[in-house]
Amino acid sequence: MRYLITGGAGFIGSHLSERLLDRGDSVVALDNFSTGGHQNIKHLEKHPQFRLVCGSVTDKGLVEECIKGVDRVYHLASAVGVKLIIERPVETVGTIVYGASVVFNTCAHYRVPVLLTSTSEVYGKSTSIPFSEDSDSIIGPPSYRRWAYASAKALGEFLALAYWHQIRLPVVLVRLFNTVGPRQTGQYGMVIPRFVQQALAGQSITVYGTGEQSRCFCHVADAVTALVSLLDHEESPGELFNIGNNQEVTMNHLAKLIVEKTESGSEIIHIPYAEAYGEGFEDMDRRVPDLSKLKRFTGYAPQNDLEGIIDDVIKQYRSQG
Ligand code: UDP
Repeated sequence: MRYLITGGAGFIGSHLSERLLDRGDSVVALDNFSTGGHQNIKHLEKHPQFRLVCGSVTDKGLVEECIKGVDRVYHLASAVGVKLIIERPVETVGTIVYGASVVFNTCAHYRVPVLLTSTSEVYGKSTSIPFSEDSDSIIGPPSYRRWAYASAKALGEFLALAYWHQIRLPVVLVRLFNTVGPRQTGQYGMVIPRFVQQALAGQSITVYGTGEQSRCFCHVADAVTALVSLLDHEESPGELFNIGNNQEVTMNHLAKLIVEKTESGSEIIHIPYAEAYGEGFEDMDRRVPDLSKLKRFTGYAPQNDLEGIIDDVIKQYRSQG
């Protein structure tokens, strides 16, 4: 099979490229390096079945060039990270919505099945834990900048489903829950790489808010397994799936665990959200995926627990010196 991965030089895209190449498929990675990086795919560039195309998903001509030669598309390209989304809202909303429109329109023209990666942000501040795919989204007001991301991603989902309902374009939708692992950068706000970098540098570990908010972290290797099984699955078109892990941890506990594992002398400090992200920021207290649908379709069972995830991230940062 020939695949196009938009955002192929990103953290998840690079792991997905590797997995597909390992099983004998060929991969075209389209990336504009806005958040992806050459270092993520350097080791793949000499692979005979890997091709890197530098450019944006908003470039219609380029997207068409890429899609007409492939059998399937993973549409991953997107702004990521709460910090980036708050600092660069124009690119965030524009790339997500317009990029999805270009990709689906071109996939429809060439009848190429496509998987869209959306996000657990779409559940917003819902408190009906765990989140199942048909749960309501509770999104805050547009004046709170965080919600631009959830709303733009939800619009991408609506558009994907519109193509499925109206012209039966095979689209698969997934919502990723806090995917973590080697090659993820803390630059855009993601908590595990940030805590690990702070701990290894002996800097204070910056826990935002009370630290009693929790998340469930999923190793990128498990997320990739799910992504591959879902686009291979005959009955997945038109369906939406959560991808994640349901082992829950508070940020206070996470900070302690990372200090212990790195044997760091760093102190753990608490920073108000307003200081971290500016006024008018809302966080969600809990975010737990219901994984039963994914399990029913693919037999999914995550292979990596939180400790394994943290160990892998520490190993990566240590190896970079
Ligand atoms: N967080 C934190 N310190 C940091 C970065 C993030 O305490 O330096 C918190 C953040 O407020 C949130 C959780 O960690 O409650 C997860 O944040 P992340 O940005 O990784 O993912 P998301 O908010 O999208 O779940």
